[in-house]
Parts: sequence; structure tokens; C-alpha cells
Amino acid sequence: MTNKSDQVTDYQPETLAVHAGTVRSQFGEHSEAMFLTSSFVFDNAAQAAARFIGEQPGNIYSRFTNPTVSMFEKRLAAMEGAEQCIATASGMSAILATCMGVLKAGDHIVASRSLFGATVNLFNNIISKFGVETTYVSATDAAEWKDAVRANTKLFFLETPSNPLTEISDIAAIAEVSKKCGALLVVDNCFCTPVLQRPLALGADIVIHSATKYIDGQGRVLGGAVLGSRQLLEPVYSFLRTAGPTMSAFNAWVFLKGLETLKVRMETLSANALELAKWLEKQPNVSRVFYPSLLSHPQHGLAMKQQKSGGGIVSFEVKGGKEAAWRVIDNTKLLSITANLGDTKTTITHPASTTHARITPEARASAGITDGLIRIAVGLEAVLDIQNDLLNGLK
Ligand SMILES: *Cc1c(COP(=O)(O)O)cnc(C)c1O
Repeated sequence: MTNKSDQVTDYQPETLAVHAGTVRSQFGEHSEAMFLTSSFVFDNAAQAAARFIGEQPGNIYSRFTNPTVSMFEKRLAAMEGAEQCIATASGMSAILATCMGVLKAGDHIVASRSLFGATVNLFNNIISKFGVETTYVSATDAAEWKDAVRANTKLFFLETPSNPLTEISDIAAIAEVSKKCGALLVVDNCFCTPVLQRPLALGADIVIHSATKYIDGQGRVLGGAVLGSRQLLEPVYSFLRTAGPTMSAFNAWVFLKGLETLKVRMETLSANALELAKWLEKQPNVSRVFYPSLLSHPQHGLAMKQQKSGGGIVSFEVKGGKEAAWRVIDNTKLLSITANLGDTKTTITHPASTTHARITPEARASAGITDGLIRIAVGLEAVLDIQNDLLNGLK
């Protein structure tokens, strides 16, 4: 196998997205090959022994490493500016593997109150069984993070912009707090991808991805990734290699191809989202629009400093509560009613009765998830067609 790309790590991000990590087989294929094999053969018994004790690098078994998965890992690592990337079966298994790798019984997590629902469930109902407690604090107030720190605090966890209200956490400010107390800052970079935001450069220690969303970009397969220094990720890899929630070669191949078009997709859907958000602000039946690139966003300045653009998630509140929100959703013909995001197809959802239905009405109200709130994950359609689809129920 030849590997030209190993010599070319100083290319621009656009070039890395297309070329980094590529390793060609003896056949000289141009598009990366998909290695659908669970195990690898050795020339002789001595080579097998050398591989197993780690004396000789190389593949053994696809729960440990797989060439297609390794290509994806190298490419995403180059794009995030990380020393290492470990691919996982899903975004949730990336978060689980990180916890299993770096935490032990008695440790404490400080986490943003605005997290993906399954992440909260993982912290509250699964990791907690192993004696790890979590304290939730404001996504936007670094002082609250500092006040929540205990002697046993090991991990800070946030995602920015938040879902669905697009609150922005100041990664650099929170990284400063985590460094002072010796905790690791983990940032779920799913909504921005490395095209729009690079948390490691802002002081984060570990970046998490749900590749299922924008990295795939077409709603096909599940996957995730953990990125950071080789030293930090060593126990994370050890957990994955042993427990097995690793990425399949097929999915890695889909994501490799997804990374090649990530920049053009993120730029187009960000531009679409901004145009839609500005239009929504002018609609008489819309009382409020949440989108980081809008001047009306409470953290517009921070967002534009930290991110290259606003991303694809736009949320807005309609007048008339749940009934009005459901009317808008039910009268769409083009948009897909689904809670998934990061697809070329625009999706629409009612957070209060879906993604945030299991939390109490009081908690929902204090989080700002009102009954009139609608979340849109903007895709690649013409904005005019999305607007007209929304007008059916907005008029
Ligand atoms: C979807 C999502 C996850 C979980 O990813 P899966 O691939 O579905 O396991 C984690 N974080 C965020 C922000 C997400 O949107």
C-alpha cells in the first residue's frame, strides 16, 4: 500500500478534507477502498506474534483497527487539528468511550444544562451507576462552571451552539476554568463540524462528533469520533478495542466521502439558514428567531468570533403556542417531520413534544423551550421553497 498523503500534512483545510488519510492498495484505486474484512492474515506465525505484542504495526482484527476506518480517522484528525482520532459506532458511543476512558468511580462532571437528550440520560442514568456524579450549569456563564468545581471534578462537557436555542458557550473562557482546576474540557462539535469551529485550537482537550449528522450529511449511517492528544485518548482506545463499539468499515467509507464535501455543504446550508432566519424575523406570526448570525442573537459577537458562520439550525417561536406550532409543522409538504438533523433535506420538529418531551414542563420553561418553538435543520433546497412550505401554516 502506498500513502502519499502522510507526507502532505501542511495543506489547507479544503485540501486535507479531500486527501488526508488516503492510503492506496496495490491496485492503485483513486477512490478510497472499503475493506470489508473482520480479520487480517499474516505471512507466518512470527509475524502474527509480532503484531499481537505490538512489536510490528499493522492490522489484526477490525475491532482493533481497519484500513478504511483508519483513513477516516486520519482525515478527520487533520481537519480538527488533532493528534489522534478514534472512530466509534455512533456519537453516543464516542461520549460513552470518553467517559469510560478518562473517568473512574468518585469522579465528578460539570456539564452544560443545554445538552443532547441522550447525553443527559447517559450521565444521569448510566455513568451515575459507576459512582460518577454530574452537576449541570449554564451554557453561557463561565462563572457558574467555576463555582460548580469540586476537588474531584475531572471533566467539563459542553456542546455549542446548543440545541434547539443556539446558545453559545465561550469555549476559550470555559477552557481557562477547566485548566485551572485540572479538569478536561470535552466539546461536542457536532453542530459546527471542523469546517465552522475548531474547539481544540480554542483550548478544549477532547472533541466529540456524531458523524451521523453533518459529516455523513445525507442521513444514511451512524457513527462518531473522539479527537485529542494521543496520550489522552490512549485509555479511550483501550476501552473501544476491548468493548467493541467501533465504527464499521462501510460506515467509515461513507463518512470519508462525506468529509470531502463537508465544506461546501456547511457553507451552503449556513447561507440558506441565515436567509431563512432573516425572513422569519419579518413574519408577523413569528415572535422570536434564534440563530447565531442574526444581530438579534444575544451572543452574536461571540458566535461570530468562535464560528466561521451560523450553521444549519434555526429555531423560532410562533404566536399561539403548541397549536400554532403544530399547524405550521403539519402543513409542510416539502420539509421532513423528523428530529434528525444534518441532512441535505430540511427537517422540522417541535422540541417541546419530541426531543424535550421527557423533561418536566417547569424544566422546559426554565430552559426556554416554549410550546410555540419550532426547530428547523436547514438543508440544501432553495430557500424560497422552504419559505413557501412554512407559509402554508404560518399565514
Ligand atoms: C445526534 C447527536 C449525538 C448522538 O449521536 P448519535 O450518532 O445519534 O449517537 C450527540 N450529540 C449531539 C449534539 C447530537 O446532535
